[in-house]
Amino acid sequence: MDKCDKCDSVLDEDRRWTIAIETQKCIWGSPTSLPEVDIQFADGLGIYCSEQHANEKIAEYLLLAGAKATWADVRPIELCACCGTDFDTTDWHKVLTLIEENADFKPRSVKYAARFCQACVP
Ligand SMILES: [Zn+2]
Ligand SMILES: [Zn+2]
Repeated sequence: MDKCDKCDSVLDEDRRWTIAIETQKCIWGSPTSLPEVDIQFADGLGIYCSEQHANEKIAEYLLLAGAKATWADVRPIELCACCGTDFDTTDWHKVLTLIEENADFKPRSVKYAARFCQACVP
């Protein structure tokens, strides 16, 4: 049985939250198409029983990195959570991602807590 990394309770089979640092690139096909996210590499930071426990881990992680949550979107230019400058998301960069998963590890929802520019390595 998988347990929450925060409170040690046994995880619900069908609802769990994962935090990962991903290396992403946002892809813009044409002006009318929706942006896509290309993920090259993901490094799991933990798995949690609730969004609240996952958010506590996110807050801890960002504090250590000297950054703050921006809850970023997928846009060609985003604010770096660490140095606060705008950067190009069409180039590879690190993203702190919160994923709500079901039992088959299929994401129900994905949120981007923070995006980091190419100069900042969280
Ligand atoms: Zn928990
Ligand atoms: Zn930065």
